[in-house]
Amino acid sequence: MNPTLTGGCNCGAVRFEIAEPLFGARYCHCTRCQRRTGSAASANAAVVPGSFRIVTGEAALKAWMPPDGHEKWFCGECGSAIFTRDPTDHAKTGVRLGAIDGDPGVRPEFRQFVAYSAPWEEIPNDGLPRYPERAPA
Ligand SMILES: [Zn+2]
Ligand SMILES: [Zn+2]
Repeated sequence: MNPTLTGGCNCGAVRFEIAEPLFGARYCHCTRCQRRTGSAASANAAVVPGSFRIVTGEAALKAWMPPDGHEKWFCGECGSAIFTRDPTDHAKTGVRLGAIDGDPGVRPEFRQFVAYSAPWEEIPNDGLPRYPERAPA
């Protein structure tokens, strides 16, 4: 049995659980992630379909739904980024590693959209594969 991962937002309104281990952890250097987080990159991982569940705070959740991209869900009370979802297939969900309590059990394996990386921070020389655009699936 894998221990269930838990997490939530800064203000405590939103809490979630993930029943299966995460996979595909990555740093995303895209412009949207920079604006969304106010940082140079965001750390995300994919969840096994059906294993992600909002425990409390469904009503507090808000989303930015760009017409050409994934839904970006965050806490409408405190702004914490929580998860991302494919609008055409809600089973394809990714969670923000920073929203998870303690150790998420995975480590970022690559960096994507590095062609758009922030000019003010050099990409760490950590040996991770770098993809100029979206990482190949
Ligand atoms: Zn919150
Ligand atoms: Zn991104």
